[in-house]
Amino acid sequence: MTVRYEVKPSPGKGMGVFAKVNIKPDDIILHDQARMKIPVHVYYGDDPQLMEQVHTHFEALSQAHKQEYLQLYQGRSGHPSKIMRIYLAVSFHDPPRGTHAVVHLKLSLVNHSCRPNAEFSDVHNEQDTKLIGVRKIKKGEEVFVSYCGYHMNGDRARRQKFFKDGFGFECKCETCSLTGYALMLSDARRTLYRELSIRRAGASPTLPEICNLIPGIKRAPNTVPGALTDHQKVAYAFITAKVMEAEGMSGAIIGDCYLACAQNLLAQVNDMAPLIVLPTIKLMHEWFGLSIKRIGAVRNSSNDDLQAMIEFWSLSRR
Ligand SMILES: [Zn+2]
Repeated sequence: MTVRYEVKPSPGKGMGVFAKVNIKPDDIILHDQARMKIPVHVYYGDDPQLMEQVHTHFEALSQAHKQEYLQLYQGRSGHPSKIMRIYLAVSFHDPPRGTHAVVHLKLSLVNHSCRPNAEFSDVHNEQDTKLIGVRKIKKGEEVFVSYCGYHMNGDRARRQKFFKDGFGFECKCETCSLTGYALMLSDARRTLYRELSIRRAGASPTLPEICNLIPGIKRAPNTVPGALTDHQKVAYAFITAKVMEAEGMSGAIIGDCYLACAQNLLAQVNDMAPLIVLPTIKLMHEWFGLSIKRIGAVRNSSNDDLQAMIEFWSLSRR
């Protein structure tokens, strides 16, 4: 199989992953598997158990993997142990779905951009996590993912604070390098995306959990009383999809918005007048299709949500 990437120095960023061939959306750039797996309950605080666990797992690595591990980014924790500094900087932890924090040696080399050209499949599939292109990447270009998470976006100032506090770097990606009117427009879109996402999070209980885990991020208070109406849920999801498409984003961030559009519309079909059911189903079909197209490559095909979505989509085609 053709090797599609190479690891080499990235100016100002330490090491980075670069495309060795032209990459298309949905192309798998590399496969990786978790080399360390730490139970999540020892993640919190300054638990001495955590250090013991991390050191034990490090000692169990092969010599080659130890070498790779020790080259990884050390972040800004200032922990006296280098092994811990690296662990705190590069481990993935996602308690709402995963039961462990994991360390991937290759994926940890991928740098951040606020307009990423790739994304990871589920990092908690320990045997096989993929780095997948979401846009065209030319041979020689660097491959980027977003470290933000969907809920954390907002204007450049907010993002810069997030990276400084959480990761200890200044983002100089193409979006953060915009100036004048282009920057104003980008900031407006991302602020709108963020605010709507926070409102939508009321119906999506995993988001606040993730927010609480990221240093430097406080969840903005939901100042608007009451839950969103079904119509608002569709409208908000649709606007978030459109503003992020206008930002040049692609991949699951957009797919999730269209999925929410389709699911929330589906929830309303029973109450609709017969005259508007047919056009509604056509729209729903289109949104499910857009969602599958953007999420399908990233999510594992055995994923229950994805299977349910494909089933709905097939039904709505009839
Ligand atoms: Zn940036």
